[in-house]
Parts: sequence; structure tokens; C-alpha cells
Amino acid sequence: MTFCTAINCMDGRVQIPVINYLRKRCGAKYVDSVTEAGPNGVLAGETNLAAIASIMDRVRISVHQHESRKIAVVGHHDCAGNPMGREFQDRQTRAAVKMVKSRFPECEVFGLWVDERWNVRELPAED
Ligand SMILES: [Zn+2]
Repeated sequence: MTFCTAINCMDGRVQIPVINYLRKRCGAKYVDSVTEAGPNGVLAGETNLAAIASIMDRVRISVHQHESRKIAVVGHHDCAGNPMGREFQDRQTRAAVKMVKSRFPECEVFGLWVDERWNVRELPAED
């Protein structure tokens, strides 16, 4: 698989850790980055419909044109766009994963948390 997809924050501190993690995790050469400020909150909030449509349009290009089949939704420590704690953000990330999965059932979708040391951890899959 050459491409995978990150629905990531625009925060410069998380770009390289997430790309490095996903290249390994997905066996992908390239990581398509779809960025927003606090995308897990945007997707879980279901209020900013224009932003959600924009994210989905860009994910669709990654899936359809680049044949990505693995998509990560990212939350992180000290997020200016989503200044909530980890537990709350993880719940948002799980809701976002569900939503993205419903739009792209052909893909594996999973959540990531980037901690205060910029280490990337995968959220366990829900039953
Ligand atoms: Zn952020």
C-alpha cells in the first residue's frame, strides 16, 4: 500500500510524529494529510458542516485517487483548536472514527493520540 491518510491537526508539532507512525503502521510510503485545527472535535461536533464536508472531500481524493485503505483520526496534547483533555478528546476521536468509517466502509479507520512528548499511541479498537 503506497498511500494512507491522516486526518490530523494543523499543529506543526504533530506532523512528523504522525507521518512516521503511520508509514510504519500502514506500510505506506506516503501519508496524505488532511488538516484542520482539532479535527477530532470538528468531526465529533457535527455542527461545522462546511468543515466536515471539506475534510470528507479531501479524504475521498486520498481514498479514490490514491487508493488509500487506512485512515487515522488524530487528537493531541495541548491542541489550540480543541483544548480538551485526553479522555474527552479520545471520546471525540472514537466518534469521529465511527463517522469516517460509515463514509468509507472499504477502509480501516482508527484513532491516534499524540501525547505531551509527541509520542503517538493508537486508540484500542472498540468492540
Ligand atoms: Zn491541535
